[in-house]
Amino acid sequence: MKEQVIPYKIYLEESEMPKQWYNVRADMTNKPAPLLNPETLQPLTKAELSQIFCDELVEQELDDTTAYIDIPKEIHDFYKMYRPSPLVRAYCLEEKLQTPAKIYYKFEGNNTSGSHKLNSAIAQAYYAKKQGLKGVTTETGAGQWGTALSMACAYLNLDCKVFMVKNSYELKPFRREVMRTYGANVTASPSETTKVGRDMLERFPGTGGSLGCAISEAVEVATQTEGYRYVLGSVLNQVMLHQSIIGLEAKAAADKYGIKFDTVIGCAGGGSNLGGLIAPFMGEKLRGEADYDIVAVEPASCPSFTRGKFAYDFCDTGMICPLAKMYTLGSSFMPSSHHAGGLRFHGMSPTLSQLYDDGFMRAKSYVQSEIFEAAVEFAKVEGILPAPESSHAIKAAIDEALRCRETGEEKNILFGLTGTGYFDLMGYEQYNNGTITDYVPTDEELQKGFDRLPKVNR
Ligand SMILES: *Cc1c(COP(=O)(O)O)cnc(C)c1O
Repeated sequence: MKEQVIPYKIYLEESEMPKQWYNVRADMTNKPAPLLNPETLQPLTKAELSQIFCDELVEQELDDTTAYIDIPKEIHDFYKMYRPSPLVRAYCLEEKLQTPAKIYYKFEGNNTSGSHKLNSAIAQAYYAKKQGLKGVTTETGAGQWGTALSMACAYLNLDCKVFMVKNSYELKPFRREVMRTYGANVTASPSETTKVGRDMLERFPGTGGSLGCAISEAVEVATQTEGYRYVLGSVLNQVMLHQSIIGLEAKAAADKYGIKFDTVIGCAGGGSNLGGLIAPFMGEKLRGEADYDIVAVEPASCPSFTRGKFAYDFCDTGMICPLAKMYTLGSSFMPSSHHAGGLRFHGMSPTLSQLYDDGFMRAKSYVQSEIFEAAVEFAKVEGILPAPESSHAIKAAIDEALRCRETGEEKNILFGLTGTGYFDLMGYEQYNNGTITDYVPTDEELQKGFDRLPKVNR
């Protein structure tokens, strides 16, 4: 049989776009552990969760058994504005690396927010609107999630209050301005507008803030304002569910050309893009239908998987959010200010944590200078300026392809290119100036975070 020529870009037809999300938990034997009430340490009930999150999202959060969930028509229509996203064969990178491996990437940066986060933002905003709410609150670190949510809320005419980590608020004025252009109300965190924020400012005057603190502020406002709920851009089961569109599209595109991936690689912050990218492949692996080498890549400065503990922990520094059982560095862990802002969360998705603990995937970490080097190498041959977060996956894919060059293996490698780096040029500037620093926490530093993990006997 003549081998089919694989194009540079494989696009699905609109009509071929997945009409359902896939919930990997349905195929897991060991289900992720339930979220706990931080006061009683008992599993959170639907009623308790509904005070924080929209009703339908609570259903999705707690659903461990339904494998396929319909994508509502309104969300599907919104997806059509910027999806299907291309599956790209990285011919130029392969040529540069002189590897027999075949490298593919799924590019999620083709929308104004510049990342995959819009896939879940529109879903969460839609369910809030459907419930008749006035608005939603959230936090944002580097700004991608806040931007995506602002876009989704603007489309649905929903109020959007974003608490942006003060460091980023000051360092990334352009991100902030995109959010405001889409009508969001953006507040630097910690702020005087919440109790958590005021306490924080009193204890640490002049602090640049943290993601954990911004989460606490957003939750406080949501739970104390009539008609508002809180939404989160990663970590939660519901977010992974929405992001499964990435993996489902990638698989559908690959199937058109009979491509079978051997290795699937994604960067991991809270785990949502990785969870979404690997979802259908992990499903096959869990059901024993196929095998894949699944790789999570994280920064060496915030190594939740590679050096963290699998334990119940708070999702926020204010310790008002539910406890999740996950790979964590401890909610008191303060990551250094490295540039991959979206990968700075202290914990990891409970679902991915369980899958990792059960041996269904592996993890590796890289320091900052390595990932910028990979980013520049990629940008020069493939044309796209990648986000530093995405560049963790690029680096791991390049390393795997170089390993194949040594062994002669013709592996099919898929990685997630989660976004573009136009708002990360300060990081690129430091890299170009040669002033970038590689920070790796010591065991002693990590121990301090572990010592403060809550004591939970479950
Ligand atoms: C937020 C973000 C990430 C990391 O978040 P996950 O939930 O782990 O996917 C990765 N890449 C980009 C471009 C991001 O904006």
